[in-house]
Amino acid sequence: MHSAAARAKSGLSPLTNRTTRTYNGGSQEEIRQKSESLAVNAVVEARLEQALDKLKRNGIRMTPQRFAILSYLQGTKSHPTADDIYRALENRFSSMSVATVYNNLKVFIDAGLVRELTYGDQCSHFDADMSTHYHARCERCGKIEDFSYPPLFHIESAAENETGFAVTSHRLEVYGTCRSCRAISQH
Ligand code: ZN
Ligand code: MN
Repeated sequence: MHSAAARAKSGLSPLTNRTTRTYNGGSQEEIRQKSESLAVNAVVEARLEQALDKLKRNGIRMTPQRFAILSYLQGTKSHPTADDIYRALENRFSSMSVATVYNNLKVFIDAGLVRELTYGDQCSHFDADMSTHYHARCERCGKIEDFSYPPLFHIESAAENETGFAVTSHRLEVYGTCRSCRAISQH
């Protein structure tokens, strides 16, 4: 059996199985996307549950705005700015402003649930995926995409040895042109 669900279960990269052959009224691509989004939803839900638990243990009050911001952030891979989050949610909260979004994000950052990716242009992006992973940033459109690579802890030890720092973390980004920007420039 080679269904998309089986592939999702086996953990094989769906990228290696891309096909648009039509099958049972829906293309395999559609079936793949559907099962992938179901799997992603389950992961997001489990993560949200854990985050809510952590906030509760830290005595942090949950408000509807907070909940909306956290679940939005956990459900996206786009590394939004505070402004992006505000624009995505403003219709649901009349009292919401970019400043309140920012303040709530700070609460999550302090609780270790969200990380801030700062850039020189004072336009921070936010990421609720706290696993050690790395980012590729598009120099044309600014898009930030995750990529996985074995964590570079040996760099942290090298830095500790050479500088005497007690190193707490590191940040690595690669820069270039993303897939969609490359496609545009080829036309
Ligand atoms: Zn781009
Ligand atoms: Mn990320």
